Amino acid sequence: MGEILCLNAGSSSLKFALFAIRDGEPIPAASGKIENIGLEPHLIAHDAKGKTIAEQRWTQSDNATHETLLGDLLDRIEASAGPDLIGVGHRIVHGGIDFSEPVRLDDRVLARLDALCPLAPLHQPHNLAAVRAVQAVRPSLPQVACFDTGFHHAIPAVATRLALPRALEDEGVRRYGFHGISYEYIARKLGEIDPVLSGGRVIAAHLGNGASLCAIKDGQSVDTTMGFTALDGLVMGTRCGTLDPGAVLYLFQQKRMSAEQVEHLLYSESGLLGVSGVSSDMRALLASDDPRADEAIDLFAWQIARQAGALASSLGGLDMLVFTAGIGENSPEVRARSCARLAWLGVEIDAEANDSNQSIISTPASRVTVRVVPTDEERMIAIHTADLLAAGKDAS
Ligand code: ADP
Repeated sequence: MGEILCLNAGSSSLKFALFAIRDGEPIPAASGKIENIGLEPHLIAHDAKGKTIAEQRWTQSDNATHETLLGDLLDRIEASAGPDLIGVGHRIVHGGIDFSEPVRLDDRVLARLDALCPLAPLHQPHNLAAVRAVQAVRPSLPQVACFDTGFHHAIPAVATRLALPRALEDEGVRRYGFHGISYEYIARKLGEIDPVLSGGRVIAAHLGNGASLCAIKDGQSVDTTMGFTALDGLVMGTRCGTLDPGAVLYLFQQKRMSAEQVEHLLYSESGLLGVSGVSSDMRALLASDDPRADEAIDLFAWQIARQAGALASSLGGLDMLVFTAGIGENSPEVRARSCARLAWLGVEIDAEANDSNQSIISTPASRVTVRVVPTDEERMIAIHTADLLAAGKDAS
């Protein structure tokens, strides 16, 4: 059918993955990232076997922008052997209440997504800038938005409501949930690898730089730890997670901080970094002998267990716990610490299976099956983009 480019654009980085679509199925062709955009960008790309196929550095005097870098990337893809690029799929963090399904991007949709930037200031503007950059260099190339909020659109009203005056809810101040592209992939994958239990009560833990939990029942999200913004829920690399709103008032009233300073503190200086004073990176914390690093890891694991307990209540019990993303897929230590706190729910880890990152890490006697499932958000975006383009759907 052709090839689809999936983009995940941040403020200074652009992750990409190219898939060939064969019989509706995405086959990985290449992937990579451009980092340090705005300073001295660095592109690196690998083929499906992990072999480096392109690497380039730009200096500041090259004045490389998101637009010129994306133009360069598209040139490379189009110049490579026999490609037929049929569309670009984007990870867009916020779809608000209007967009629960992937949608073809046009100026009208972009304007509605622009209005959601204040709800995801660190992600949404950069996601949309990449769409506009592609529009500028390839105006006729179809583009599709896949939303991190989409998978949570059917969670019950009681789990979306904030206890604030109704007028605020009417203007969209409610819980949305994020990491939905990852959770949708996990839910589908579980349907393939564990069809019986995947129909039961599942908690998926997406533990990366951003981190959240999702309660999944019959393959659908019924509750999640992130809320109105991606600040809520678990402790993250640099984000605070669940916080007493009174602490925010204190920052404004007693510390006399500005809105920008508070935003920076909550999004970029808190979480594992703020608590440890060492790093936001779990690998660095695990390697550190600073006691505050250990305390930060403990807080991370404690919050996972505490909030998993809350989601188990939303599910009415627990049949399966799934770990995914950078920390979830690779850190036996974090999995062991959080699972130890969930023993009361019937979670029992097999230390050997956990230490060697096996796909099932619970003991045969464990009441809850514990799995490690690598996520693949890019594949999910490729599937949606291919489906939408094949269906020839227009923007709603
Ligand atoms: P993002 O949310 O940016 O996509 P990732 O899913 O790649 O992030 O996760 C990044 C996190 O995963 C970092 O904290 C990193 O230290 C952690 N991580 C990666 N590999 C390991 C490992 N082997 N052990 C512990 N933590 C790891």
